[in-house]
Amino acid sequence: MRLRLEHALLETGVESDVRLEVEGGVIISVRVLSPNSHLSGEASTDKSSDPRLTGETGTVPGLTLPGFANCHSHAFHRALRGRTQAERGSFWTWREQMYAVAAELTPDTYFALARDTYAEMRATGITAVGEFHYLHHQPDGTPYDDPNEMGKALLAAADEAGIRIRLLDTCYLAAGFGQPPEGVQVRYSDGDAHAWAERVAAFDDPRVGAAIHSVRAVPREQLPVVVEAAAGKPLHVHLSEQAAENEACLAATGLTPTQLLAEAGALGPLTSAVHATHLTEDDIRLLGESRTNVCFCPTTERDLADGIGPARRLHDAGATITLGSDSHAVIDLIEEMRAVEMHERLASQQRGHWSALELLAAATYDGHRSLGFPDAGRIVLGQRADLVTLDLDSIRTRGGGATAETAVFAATSADVRTLK
Ligand SMILES: [Zn+2]
Repeated sequence: MRLRLEHALLETGVESDVRLEVEGGVIISVRVLSPNSHLSGEASTDKSSDPRLTGETGTVPGLTLPGFANCHSHAFHRALRGRTQAERGSFWTWREQMYAVAAELTPDTYFALARDTYAEMRATGITAVGEFHYLHHQPDGTPYDDPNEMGKALLAAADEAGIRIRLLDTCYLAAGFGQPPEGVQVRYSDGDAHAWAERVAAFDDPRVGAAIHSVRAVPREQLPVVVEAAAGKPLHVHLSEQAAENEACLAATGLTPTQLLAEAGALGPLTSAVHATHLTEDDIRLLGESRTNVCFCPTTERDLADGIGPARRLHDAGATITLGSDSHAVIDLIEEMRAVEMHERLASQQRGHWSALELLAAATYDGHRSLGFPDAGRIVLGQRADLVTLDLDSIRTRGGGATAETAVFAATSADVRTLK
């Protein structure tokens, strides 16, 4: 298949009049055409190559980007959208509402919610998702006949929606330091980390990765078991989203959550620490020196009144920033990109912490790589042709020009026009 793109984000920046050749879903050729070459006979061949994607002139209009990676999702939280905003309270009171949904879900309703949530992602330019999945068992804690039935419902939902998934099967064993699971948490717990690892191994599916729910939910001595079972696969973990987690961890272990994960060998380039909102200088150093990915979820973090994490300082220390829509209060990776910069502006009273190209890297290549898909997220030879095109002539984007800044600071997911 041949595609002609009016504008495209390449490794050299935004280029105009770009021709791609794609075979088996992989980019086999990228060329920036000379300004007059679209008048050649070759162009008319392109014109009929894919009528879904070509406009009247045979060129895909707008700015084509690599598809976005949504690195942190709890698909079922989508059921809370619009239903939790009347309350006052905090993360912890919101969690009660989320737990009420978790208590009710069946494999069928979990599948239906996830399918629709992934379809929304797909429609907004997201081509891969990291699903942080901890709702494993029946309401009384008994495993389903197939102990991985709930996880398989998510894999099937992703297939139906046409999105690539990394199922981050989550170890969740405790309500807090020294506290057994409470209430709906019995649906999350496998009893101990060895039983968790055994259940996850039974998937026998290359799309399955691993997660530690948090240092609250996996006892200190069991963290290395999860780390060992996750060797060679993406490993995700909620980290210091709430100051209360830090306080409880320090009281129980004398270490910060980051220090505890470092002790367990859980940090590194295949690990993603999610949120990383409340960190010490030493935490930032540990995450940076270990080249850990740090997944920011700004639209959720502001919705839950979590705080603003030190994104730029983590990046400068050596960590890689990725993005996720987490609770799906909003599904818009463009808004997540923009919010990383905007939140830092509010916190610092300074503008210009992140360039648009840096934020696009977080939303694309860095995100895909953190999910274990290093062959996605760039429009270059040999990468997957997962593309998303932004309308540059919408009421929001008109006049901004074909630039990375228009994509990040003017567009929204409503400007995603064409997908492949
Ligand atoms: Zn989360």
